[in-house]
Amino acid sequence: MRALFAVLGLALLPAVGCTPSRPSVVLISIDSLRADVPGTQIAGRPLTPAIDEFSRGALVYSRAISAAPWTTPAMMSVMTGLAAEVHGVEEHDRALASSVPTLAERFRDAGYRTAAFTPAVTLRAEYGFARGFEVYDQDNFGHNRLSSPTLVGKVLARLEEWKDEPFFIWVHLWDPHYNYIPPAPWNGYFRAGRQPPRQDVQCLKWVENPVSREQALWFMGQYRGEVAYTDRYFGQILEQIEQLGLAEQTVVAVMADHGEAFLEHGWLGHTNRLDETLIHVPLMIRRPGKEAGHIDRVVSTAGVGRRLLEVAGIDGATFGDLPALPASPDGTAEERAIVSRTIRRGCWTALSTTRYKYLIEHRRCREWLFDLQQDPGEATDISAAQPERLLEMRHALAEELRRERALGVARAMLPREIVEQAEARLRSIGYVGGAQTGGGDAKTVTCARIADPGKVDAFGDTAAEPCPEDAVSRCLESVEKQP
Ligand SMILES: [Zn+2]
Repeated sequence: MRALFAVLGLALLPAVGCTPSRPSVVLISIDSLRADVPGTQIAGRPLTPAIDEFSRGALVYSRAISAAPWTTPAMMSVMTGLAAEVHGVEEHDRALASSVPTLAERFRDAGYRTAAFTPAVTLRAEYGFARGFEVYDQDNFGHNRLSSPTLVGKVLARLEEWKDEPFFIWVHLWDPHYNYIPPAPWNGYFRAGRQPPRQDVQCLKWVENPVSREQALWFMGQYRGEVAYTDRYFGQILEQIEQLGLAEQTVVAVMADHGEAFLEHGWLGHTNRLDETLIHVPLMIRRPGKEAGHIDRVVSTAGVGRRLLEVAGIDGATFGDLPALPASPDGTAEERAIVSRTIRRGCWTALSTTRYKYLIEHRRCREWLFDLQQDPGEATDISAAQPERLLEMRHALAEELRRERALGVARAMLPREIVEQAEARLRSIGYVGGAQTGGGDAKTVTCARIADPGKVDAFGDTAAEPCPEDAVSRCLESVEKQP
């Protein structure tokens, strides 16, 4: 293991016991919350009134990029400070190598109480998420059950129980994740479009244009209802912090693991692509008594852990491999382009700067370049018009990949029996059976037409050919050779 990790433990000693009162830290990650959702109103009704109120007292990172477009690798990046390719937990059968330190371990070793409340198989303890947490409360709500009352109820109780000690609490709010089925009255708040006959996005998300535009609008309206519903529970956590008298000593961070697509580029849901709808996410950190404001330069959500350690007075510089998040709107910090990637069905890598985005699809070595300042919707590929910029971004990506590999982080697999257990549970709750039923209108694509129902992996996703190893480097080499 590199020196980066070897200093774990030793580097923490000065932080322990030398500060009279250390701030507690609450990390609230909200599944599938797009960057453009907080602050939005529809017909005079705000989608996220509690988050909006919170944001006025927080540092808002308006160009935060996720390491990956789905839960497991995105949150593992937050918990390790490493890019998805580096920690390697990017498939249902991978686990975090035991040699990689986690955020919770750093807090625990500094004397913090540590607890996590998670809702889904994608955050199961065995992937490495539980390491360092004194309490790892893992539930599995699936895609059709409401989870916020249960999860937040546990958080409120834990805050009360630990109010006299420094703590690090992480909760992953789940309800905005598909399927989009908010309870009444939230299901009527943002109603739009036309209800599709089939609503299982787990099936619909694997094919292009699986529903009509009108049907996608309906999905988006119901998603907004789920977001508004979740926002209410988010507000309850803040109220509890206030009521327990903890507001002046508690740092609160809010973020999303990834975004969500509603046919902007022809796709629904998330996981298999790296469009801005999927990797550009909200990120806000509120530090009692500290400056609020906006930071517009690119940052990675994988840098959140380091920042949270720093605000707690724990050495963050030796955690993970990302530059520190800027600590104030006018503060200086190293800017680095952010790598995002997915190898789940789609094989994509993106490099994001504050203004530009370079995208490469590595099964076919196709590439795109977008100027997000001029073209936030990624409609116009400027790679032919700006060959020098293209070259610069290719080189920057190659350099990032070299640096990531030089870290030499070990890889690990999830034990086979754990993978099999997960697959068996999916069969028992009808994922495989459900995949065989069809019906609906001509636009509706069923799981049965997408994949062999027998080939459903441990997340209920249809299995696909793995992405070729080292394909990005080979693609970059091959495009470099083009005249
Ligand atoms: Zn997620």
